Amino acid sequence: MFSYAQEGYQVKHVMIDAGHGGKDPGAVGKGSKEKDITLAIALKVGEYVEKNLKGVKVSYTRDKDVFVGLRERAQKANAAKADLFISIHCNASESSKPYGTETWVMGMHRNERNLKVAQKENAAILLETDYDKTYENFDPNSPLSYIRFKIIQNEFRTQSVVLANNVQTEFTTRVKRHDRGVKEAGFLVLVYTTMPRILIEAGFLSNPAEEKFLKSKNGQELMASAIYRAIKKYKKDIEGPAKTELPVPTTEPVVTSDSSKQVVTPQRSPEQPANDDPVPPSNTKVIVAVQFSTSTRKKDLSSFKGVSDVWEYEQGGLFKYVSGHFNQMAEAEAHLAKLKSAGYTDAFLVYFLNGERIKRAEALKLLK
Ligand SMILES: [Zn+2]
Repeated sequence: MFSYAQEGYQVKHVMIDAGHGGKDPGAVGKGSKEKDITLAIALKVGEYVEKNLKGVKVSYTRDKDVFVGLRERAQKANAAKADLFISIHCNASESSKPYGTETWVMGMHRNERNLKVAQKENAAILLETDYDKTYENFDPNSPLSYIRFKIIQNEFRTQSVVLANNVQTEFTTRVKRHDRGVKEAGFLVLVYTTMPRILIEAGFLSNPAEEKFLKSKNGQELMASAIYRAIKKYKKDIEGPAKTELPVPTTEPVVTSDSSKQVVTPQRSPEQPANDDPVPPSNTKVIVAVQFSTSTRKKDLSSFKGVSDVWEYEQGGLFKYVSGHFNQMAEAEAHLAKLKSAGYTDAFLVYFLNGERIKRAEALKLLK
């Protein structure tokens, strides 16, 4: 198991999943089928990755017009030990008005509309023989079936959200698509995959202008290159330099440059007494902390309720949130267990030497 930015996790193998295929056309527009557009975009994404990201292997759940079950798609990614799973789809609506792109991560839907999108995509299983057996009596049309996703342990959520954000950013800034956001729901193809994973809805085939765009070669190339750039950025961010300048929190008051009267105390969570220096005088060099959150946007440290001694460092353009300053492994591990049981299931230990992130092996040697 690995977590975001954890040692050893690299993007070496990307599994690209073109939605639908064969007897399952997916959404149908006036002059196009979802299965054709998703395949065209998927193959382009793969081509860009193979050409431009050296050392990254690309696989497809399908590379031609054939039917593949949702669980089988996930199994292909798992068996290949892919590091990323990217499922590509197109939306459709009763009305011709809605348009824009959205990227989904595995989770519990927050409203009816989000549930509907997952239901529509999951309905593909009804075309599989023995689907009730394969999916343990899951009924894609019954909202009750989705309750089980509340309790699924959601690994790789942080990574998936980071990648999803990258995709939406590229779609909006570089391809000028309308941003419908990053959302979550119980897509079966994401339920069964065991790596960072997203599902892209590239646009609405029910909207004439968007259908025209998605049908065009130019549109497909633009969408594919946006997805490629999102993967490239994600890869760079997680494999970025391990050592980075770290703003080590200090208990000294900081005087701002514009006014000598204005004294700013460093940000600390309410649980942390301001004058309590958690680092003992001996062995002050190596600090072990628990990383529990990563964000593309800067967060208020006090927003992490119930987490003590929260501080932040920046790496690869991301803001990473950690808790605690330890120089004993046992204490750090106990703190990690506490945060995990508090719901931060993806939390892991990180190590710093003189304010720079170092590898676990190096830290363990120094702590001995
Ligand atoms: Zn679809």
